[in-house]
Amino acid sequence: MSELTAAVVDGFTRGTHLLRAGLCDEAMVEFRAVYAQAEAGDDGEVMAACLCEMAWCCYKLGLIEQGLECAMGARWLRRRQDNKVELARALAVEAILFLDLGFSDEAFDLAEEAVALAEADEDSAVLAFALNAKGIVLTVCREIDMGMDLIERAVSVAADHANLAAEAYYLLNLGFCHAKIAEEADKFGEEERAIGEREAAIELTEQAIAKAESSGDHWSLRVALANTAEMFGLEGRYDLALEYLDRSAQLPGDPGVSLRIHYLYTLGDVLLRAGQLHKARLAVTEALALADESHQIDHQVNTAHKLAEILEALGDTADALALHKRFHTLYVRQSGETARRRARIEEIRAETEQLRSRAATLADQALSDPLTGIANRRSFDQILNRLAGTPVAIAIVDLDNFKAVNDHFSHIVGDAVLQRVARTMVAQIGPHGHAARLGGEEFALIFPDAPEVTAAAFCEGVRVAICSTSWSDLAPDLEVTVSIGLATGNGSMPSAELLQMADNRLYVAKANGRDRVVCGDGPVIAPMPATSGERRRWRA
Ligand code: GH3
Ligand code: MG
Ligand code: MG
Repeated sequence: MSELTAAVVDGFTRGTHLLRAGLCDEAMVEFRAVYAQAEAGDDGEVMAACLCEMAWCCYKLGLIEQGLECAMGARWLRRRQDNKVELARALAVEAILFLDLGFSDEAFDLAEEAVALAEADEDSAVLAFALNAKGIVLTVCREIDMGMDLIERAVSVAADHANLAAEAYYLLNLGFCHAKIAEEADKFGEEERAIGEREAAIELTEQAIAKAESSGDHWSLRVALANTAEMFGLEGRYDLALEYLDRSAQLPGDPGVSLRIHYLYTLGDVLLRAGQLHKARLAVTEALALADESHQIDHQVNTAHKLAEILEALGDTADALALHKRFHTLYVRQSGETARRRARIEEIRAETEQLRSRAATLADQALSDPLTGIANRRSFDQILNRLAGTPVAIAIVDLDNFKAVNDHFSHIVGDAVLQRVARTMVAQIGPHGHAARLGGEEFALIFPDAPEVTAAAFCEGVRVAICSTSWSDLAPDLEVTVSIGLATGNGSMPSAELLQMADNRLYVAKANGRDRVVCGDGPVIAPMPATSGERRRWRA
């Protein structure tokens, strides 16, 4: 991130802490505020970082479409910034969101690209995050063994880096893989295998609970507690299951709607198995009401189904039938939901593309000079800010007697001269420096980390190129020269002082006859007449 204000750093840090503590709503508020500041200041780095964190908050809050909007924005910016590691992170977040929406093909492509990018860049934290994303996608697509291998790698990377919160999350997912295998084994009547896998799952989620507790991550902790309780429930260890659910209920802070539904659903499931039907009914009725309220169709379908099951067990046939009917209606709606979600994703994709491209164009316009297309004063200031504290050479280039060019040949010719001077400067300095138009017929050159002698040689190159250019195609007899003042700093002098020094030297160049470069307190590089291109005088 560049040129960060203290408020931005503080806000971002607060958001990160809140997110890590599982306080996703509060984290979202912080990241939104930081994003707004970054947007106002045109800071794409901070904007992308905020969008990625916001996407992750949304995922944890179950706001999947909103999350996708953020993740796609982050991805767009990161691609433009050519930041491979952060692009990998954004892609991995997007993959997990796509998976949650039921689009595993898209999720797989995104996760695979994330892993490839992170592997090439050797950033271990992002690599672990990407491996985990791809592992989850594979697991959901029933490639569980392959998925587990990847998530195991993610766990070991997080463990090597003592990243407890990440380790808790990956362990949780590894437990989920074993639970999936147990589920399959149950389906095929392989009871022993199912029990073994569930035991493995419990062991992993127990580890996740311990790590999440140590790191203070209440989101992973809540999910891990509910998942463990579910497995205890399946094994008939109801007291233990209820104890784990109670631990989750005792945690401070609002878990958010999605986790609350998850908790109530699991509670209802355990109570149903334990034969505590009235309590089960209460829990799942509340879960269904929350799912209805928040229009979360997947939760609505699952909870309606579970409630029908509980009512049936209670012998409440009429209500059970009504719930079955409701479930059926919801189920049909859920099937249509795929098409609606796909349309919405396309809409978000198009909006992101349009919005971001427009913002990028505006940002480019805000930083470039409309007449010459090179950097403007604002951009010049930003470059100098970025280079603050490092050695830099600054030159001010001013056209000689330019007023006369306008007077004799017209303003239009004057404009064309300014454009050609800008092009010539850019061509002369190439990738070694930056050229900007400060205003009027005054330009600046910035040479990062260049010794004075090198910067002076580039300036002289610019001067010679301009005076030896043929200008007659713009107007017969037109000749153009520039004077240049150059100052070099070792990083200790504020750029405003350096700029003043360059300006003073420009004045010396003008006073000594124009068409020359003045640098250091030493030599004034005198002009080579355009005709000979040979003669060069050095004066003390
Ligand atoms: P010196 O060698 O001392 O720098 O003389 P000068 O004539 O170049 O300097 P002066 O500051 O007297 O005049 C600058 C002129 O630049 C005045 C103005 O008409 C012209 N100018 C400023 N901006 C533009 C522009 O965008 N287009 C054109 N065509 N002329 C401009
Ligand atoms: Mg001038
Ligand atoms: Mg001037």
